[in-house]
Amino acid sequence: RGRATLQVIVRGYGEGMRLVLSLDVTERERAEAMRRDFVANVSHEIRTPLTVLAGFIETMSSLNLTEAERRRVLQLMGQQTHRMQSLVSDLLTLAQLEGSPRPAADQWINLDKLLARVGADALALSAGRHQLTLPGEQHAELAGVEAEVLSAVSNLLSNAVRYTPEGGAITLGWRIQADGSGELCVSDNGPGIAREHLPRLTERFYRVDGSRSRDTGGTGLGLSIVKHVLQRHGGELDIQSELGAGSRFRLVFPAARVRLNDDLAIGAEA
Ligand code: ADP
Repeated sequence: RGRATLQVIVRGYGEGMRLVLSLDVTERERAEAMRRDFVANVSHEIRTPLTVLAGFIETMSSLNLTEAERRRVLQLMGQQTHRMQSLVSDLLTLAQLEGSPRPAADQWINLDKLLARVGADALALSAGRHQLTLPGEQHAELAGVEAEVLSAVSNLLSNAVRYTPEGGAITLGWRIQADGSGELCVSDNGPGIAREHLPRLTERFYRVDGSRSRDTGGTGLGLSIVKHVLQRHGGELDIQSELGAGSRFRLVFPAARVRLNDDLAIGAEA
């Protein structure tokens, strides 16, 4: 329908105009197809745990379960509920990121506090199963939205913890590069990701191994959130990974958003 309407509009104009308008239609069709895919994906992601929950409710109401069985079913129901909560929470985060203006470059985040907090969360999540290396005090500040940067780094660390087998090594690093830009880096020596998947990793709901992702509480939206946060801060996400060797995710923030402040100490307000 969009195409037919445009044919009427472009009559009488040169070929150049026709080309521009038809490109516009293609772009709009692509956006519409993406939106449809997204809605289908969300529906599927919500329907699966709901189906499982419905089954458990039936089991609990129709069978005479022992106390131990009842507790087990409740635990499984809790897991499915938690899965839907994570999904809704990630969807809301994405919607907020897409709908709000780019953050101003005049709100300075105390990076030491942020790194200490995500580091503590990662330690708790790993529960001693990995060898975690965290950065020392950096006395650095980053201009942006603290909650967003926190969510980006937390997503990367929680991926590293979830995908790296027990005994593996995970490192969180920060450095200011020669050109003044700031690099936050999360690396692991986990399973790595095959080269053909790398270009699609930040797409919404793209997973290399769907069951592994879901079993460990993944929503398939984490890297998409990370990419959005970086874009909004004028930065870039660089992913390097080798199958069997590990992965490295670099968040690079532009020099204008990075500064050193020797007065900073953990616990001090920026
Ligand atoms: P998910 O919630 O599935 O983890 P993400 O968007 O965070 O979604 O990641 C997309 C996919 O990238 C994951 O499903 C996983 O296959 C792969 N991946 C992400 N981080 C790592 C990692 N550190 N090691 C191996 N694979 C990873």
